[in-house]
Amino acid sequence: MMNDKTKCLIIGSGPAGYTAAIYASRADLKPVLYQGMQPGGQLTITTDVENFPGYPEGVTGPAMMEDFQKQASRFGAYLRWGSVTDVNLSSRPFIVKADDGKTIEAETIIIATGASAKWLGIESETKFSGYGVSACATCDGFFYKGKIVAVVGGGDTAAEEAHYLAKLCKKVYLIHRRDELRASKAMQNKVLSTPNIEMVWNSLPIEIVGKEEGFIKAVEGVILKNMIDGSQSRIDIDGIFIAIGHKPNSDLFIDKLELYPNGYIKTEPGSTKTNVPGVFAAGDIQDQYYRQAITAAGSGCMAAIEAERFLS
Ligand code: NAP
Repeated sequence: MMNDKTKCLIIGSGPAGYTAAIYASRADLKPVLYQGMQPGGQLTITTDVENFPGYPEGVTGPAMMEDFQKQASRFGAYLRWGSVTDVNLSSRPFIVKADDGKTIEAETIIIATGASAKWLGIESETKFSGYGVSACATCDGFFYKGKIVAVVGGGDTAAEEAHYLAKLCKKVYLIHRRDELRASKAMQNKVLSTPNIEMVWNSLPIEIVGKEEGFIKAVEGVILKNMIDGSQSRIDIDGIFIAIGHKPNSDLFIDKLELYPNGYIKTEPGSTKTNVPGVFAAGDIQDQYYRQAITAAGSGCMAAIEAERFLS
């Protein structure tokens, strides 16, 4: 069977992948894009997106990603269901295998596989996901204006989210499983000196409780287990933000590309170039800092332009 050939293979279908596909197809690179296990990426598990420019009334995450997909298709990007399972970056062209049985020879690769928020792994967290359980304060915090929320985690992300939410919400509980934050000293100081943030130390959420009436669901509280004496308690909240870290989806590139120790792909500053010429990384897979749809889309655009220049 003949291998497929493409000038540009894009892996991932979040804002970075689809934006790369829009630019690459308009540049006549005829890109092939593998959508991965969760077509549309992390935004498909968000409810309303109100901070993406161009949607003055806001838009749901899934609807926005459908628009991205349609726009990529309109310019001729070949969108494929399925995931890439193996890459050989030492050959030219690169050789890529996918779970649809295809082997593709690619002159350039744009990696836009994103990151996945880590979750606590309790059943009620899934049940209320998008209905009071979120992993992104910048995306969803606005909906809790004047309300009481909790943030779970003790790192910089949790501290930042708690600080951000404290400006919008009446009260923020910061729930951490130990008695000491992992966050940087500066963030710790910020959190501990904000009057409407209350620390809940040595505690782990074991159940999120709320109401369920048909399709209407809303978080009303969280049950906590004390990590020292095992006792249980409940606090009443309107929403809960899980901020226990993200995992970049970079397993495929271990030992093939330069990664940071925490798994994010290293790119040249101000560029999407990886350490392998012709391989570019865009979106959350190379961004530990902003992690926004708009910044991911921006870097997807950069990657397509850099791929085009590499080829010419
Ligand atoms: P992180 O540093 O890995 O912190 C994760 C936190 O969640 C830890 O406090 C951890 O508790 C807790 N945790 C992990 N699994 C848990 C579980 N199953 N149940 C309950 N708690 C759990 O992750 P992050 O805060 O997302 O930060 C990731 C990296 O990005 C860090 O290097 C951070 O410095 C950086 N970052 C920097 C900035 C900034 O500079 N502005 C902002 C955000 C992130 P333990 O402490 O007990 O392990």
